[in-house]
Amino acid sequence: MPRPPRIPDRDWEDWRWQLRNRITSVGDLERYVDLSEGVRAGIQAASSQYRWAITPYYAALMDRDDPDCPLRRQQVPSAQELADDLGAEDPLLERDHSPVDAIVHVYPDRVAFKITNVCPTYCRYCFREYFVGNTGQHHTRAKVQAGIDYIARTPAIRDVLVTGGDPLLFSDERLDDLLGRLRAIEHVQIIRTGSRTPCTLPQRITPELCEVLSRHHPIWLNTHFNHPDEITPEAASACDRLLRAGVPLGNQTVLLKGVNDDPQVMLELVHRLLAIRVRPYYIFQCQLVAGTAHLRTSIESGLAIVQALRGHTTGFGVPTYVLDTPYGKVPLAPQYLLGRSGDEVVVRTWDGRIWREPNPLDSSPPAGMALADLDALRQPTDSGCRA
Ligand SMILES: *Cc1c(COP(=O)(O)O)cnc(C)c1O
Repeated sequence: MPRPPRIPDRDWEDWRWQLRNRITSVGDLERYVDLSEGVRAGIQAASSQYRWAITPYYAALMDRDDPDCPLRRQQVPSAQELADDLGAEDPLLERDHSPVDAIVHVYPDRVAFKITNVCPTYCRYCFREYFVGNTGQHHTRAKVQAGIDYIARTPAIRDVLVTGGDPLLFSDERLDDLLGRLRAIEHVQIIRTGSRTPCTLPQRITPELCEVLSRHHPIWLNTHFNHPDEITPEAASACDRLLRAGVPLGNQTVLLKGVNDDPQVMLELVHRLLAIRVRPYYIFQCQLVAGTAHLRTSIESGLAIVQALRGHTTGFGVPTYVLDTPYGKVPLAPQYLLGRSGDEVVVRTWDGRIWREPNPLDSSPPAGMALADLDALRQPTDSGCRA
């Protein structure tokens, strides 16, 4: 790990030091990785368009020599960001679903509450580009309070997703205050948050922070690891501290070309997550965000990855693959239910066998289910299956 010399442990392990010393220039970055002339020019060009910053901790995980290092691809600006004909600034039209600035209200019973637009490290594929890192400021107290007021006067909201930016960049005191105000709203049953700090700034998960979170249970947290190399001893300890504070952990991964669009990489990632007791929750299709064409993959490649996981590893290690839309998340799954044939349904098993299961005709099919005539599939099959 190419951590630069002469940085005392007590600084390196201090999240505020990590933030103060974020990498925001080619010169800073060159302490960690070697950059060709072309890459350097690309950083300069792209950074005039999109904000960037990387924590020293995360930069030290990058491969010094390999410009295609999957960690570099996620965080180092590239000239390719300027070649994207399709991407939009706000592909999820979040601002059309914002009753007040800080709230995105799409589902009846839950909201996303954006309390800050600051992150420790700006991911190149951020879907909230219209907002995150724009001014580099936390929301004003008035805007956050307007969000709390909206939740308080909307009794249907039972689940509040505290998001950003990265909510854990709030100070402990400010988080304590915010969570206390949300907890005081009777109809709010669960509070959850999304933070990439366990991955990019694990030093943030201090015992004091864990103590604050544990005062406001039930609190759930989804973090964001995309590649097995991100699961370091530091990240594992941060997750362990959260779990010991009673915060259940899930992980959201974004499917990214050249980072994790490979069944073996994804399998390794979910195995390492399970080993640190973080449950894989979602794999997101990369949104059509401006500047991300070089990171986007096809939905077919995502389906192939999910198919390579299901049955091949622990059932609860398989995340749900979703496409987010302005109207909510759509689960995308390989087809296992092939259709009905007379009084049977025909399914495909994880390892590709065809199985016919008697299924009464009297039940009405769920809307949208294709009732294909599958008699063509009535052929000899492997042992263990009925023909
Ligand atoms: C993702 C999201 C949620 C939470 O969705 P879950 O599927 O319950 O995790 C809530 N509100 C908005 C606007 C979201 O984008």
